[in-house]
Amino acid sequence: MGIEAALPAEGFVTTQLRHVINWARRSSLWPMPFATACCGIELMATACSRYDLARFGAEVMRFSPRQADLMIVAGRIAVKMLPVLQRTYEQMPEPKWVISMGACASTGGVFDTYAVVQGCDQFIPVDVYVPGCPPRPEQLIEGVMAIQRHIDREGLPPPGGKRVPLGLVIEPTHIPRPQPVTLGR
Ligand code: SF4
Repeated sequence: MGIEAALPAEGFVTTQLRHVINWARRSSLWPMPFATACCGIELMATACSRYDLARFGAEVMRFSPRQADLMIVAGRIAVKMLPVLQRTYEQMPEPKWVISMGACASTGGVFDTYAVVQGCDQFIPVDVYVPGCPPRPEQLIEGVMAIQRHIDREGLPPPGGKRVPLGLVIEPTHIPRPQPVTLGR
């Protein structure tokens, strides 16, 4: 992992517990895919070998919310489906994050109808909005990395603290960016 090159001759390093815990947390985001439509296909592509979400430790898709800490809403949410989305979110343990992937999840997209929720953030807190129809896998990865950067910066999560959504927006682009991008501070 490269850490051995940084070890001094004595063979030990000192650090803060906060850094180690946050390093482990940001390197093991477990997504709960709430994929309801075509954006879900792009989400699958993100986890496949070409884009390899595993490089960021976030490839372990969990289909039990109790084992997940990153909900990815990918696709339109029908009003009928909304209680399921909310229940799934509630069943995820804290600390947890939410990515709204694509125009439909964030705004209802082209489905301006009474049957489609016009933005899942009206009902669950959203940390990162990834624009596009659908967003490219690189953009979704940027969204995951935005949460990683936040975890790197923050202290230890307060027990039972109030959930404040980050409200970050990923810049829309159709240009693939070289991956991986270095985690900044
Ligand atoms: S944003 Fe576009 S690609 Fe994604 S679910 Fe909606 S219509 Fe499909």
